[in-house]
Amino acid sequence: MNLSIDKNNSENLRYCKKCVMPITKPDLEFYDGKICSACHFFEKRKEIDWKKREERFHEILKKNKNPSSPYDCIVPCSGGKDSTYQTIKILELGYKPLCVNASTDKLSDLGRYNIENLKKLGVDFIEVSTNPNIRRRINKFTLETVGDISWAEHITIFTIPVRIAIQFKIPLIVWGENPQNENGGPLYKEDNHILDRSWLEEFGGLLGLRSTDITDLMSIDIKELYLYTYPSNEEIKNNKSTGIFLGHFFPWDGEENAKIAIKNGFKVYHKNIEGSIVNYENLDNAQMRIHDYFKFLKFGYDRVTDWCCWKIRRDRLTRDEAKELVIKYGGKYPINYLGFELSEILNEIDCSLDEFNLICDKFTNKKLFKCNNKGELIKDENQNLILNNSKFD
Ligand SMILES: [Zn+2]
Repeated sequence: MNLSIDKNNSENLRYCKKCVMPITKPDLEFYDGKICSACHFFEKRKEIDWKKREERFHEILKKNKNPSSPYDCIVPCSGGKDSTYQTIKILELGYKPLCVNASTDKLSDLGRYNIENLKKLGVDFIEVSTNPNIRRRINKFTLETVGDISWAEHITIFTIPVRIAIQFKIPLIVWGENPQNENGGPLYKEDNHILDRSWLEEFGGLLGLRSTDITDLMSIDIKELYLYTYPSNEEIKNNKSTGIFLGHFFPWDGEENAKIAIKNGFKVYHKNIEGSIVNYENLDNAQMRIHDYFKFLKFGYDRVTDWCCWKIRRDRLTRDEAKELVIKYGGKYPINYLGFELSEILNEIDCSLDEFNLICDKFTNKKLFKCNNKGELIKDENQNLILNNSKFD
């Protein structure tokens, strides 16, 4: 039974009793007001017959092979730990992937190193970059209008592999984990393992903004947004395009993926990443911390909470330890990331620090944070906000 809760009402801001995810997380549902749907899904994994799912995976790969193509499937690759693992797994299972990379907004040296390392696993690899001048304009526009600097990145990691699949006449795309499963999306999608246009529009993080909206609102010619648009229904049908999640067929574990990637040459950061509690993820895009910070402003949690929850569910962290980590490292103003200063990252999109701070305030859910008696947000000398319920009860 689910509780009907006003997610924006701070008086109701509560956390899952098993992990530390707040009720404000979009799409998260709660059972009996206590346990979140992500914890529920994770428990149900114990009932899965993985052998059967592996057999099903092989059936799907065989059924969707284009006999005239040298490739068995497309593997979308950021070059991160998960896509390195995905590629290793597909190769181990005996298939020939075509790896496709949608370039990130501000690729770090470490990100470049790991992409080159992934290629050396022995795969053909296509890197696709969108026009950087337009991309910068879009990044600023979406930061200002929907509070997300990474909208363009989120849409192109989904659209570009599908475009390449059609160009190369490869029907099947093997994505990584279904984030709705790992993070607890609406229950009726629990068994869904297909990624298609409707999935993208519902769960792809587009925040209600489509590329056609961008053309109108920013007066950008639609031709400039070809790579930001999902192919037409006719193109999809002609190519018999299907997208599946590898995590539906094989148990998915981000930490284990990192270990496998590291064994295969993947390089990690020299310390835990700023705004995180691990050293092996989101190494490829200097803008990523800004994206995560806006999640904190809107919903009161960030990447530290995500990681704590994943670790709690796998019995690698207690809930009390997680609370401490979230209080110590979570929700910090993104003053730097991967060796870049915030001002340097913002400079790329022609945004000053003052302008950025105003945009932050605009997207901050004031019901979640302490304000003075004039209703203004209280910040410390480092611009950090204070959560109303900072004890995570
Ligand atoms: Zn939970």
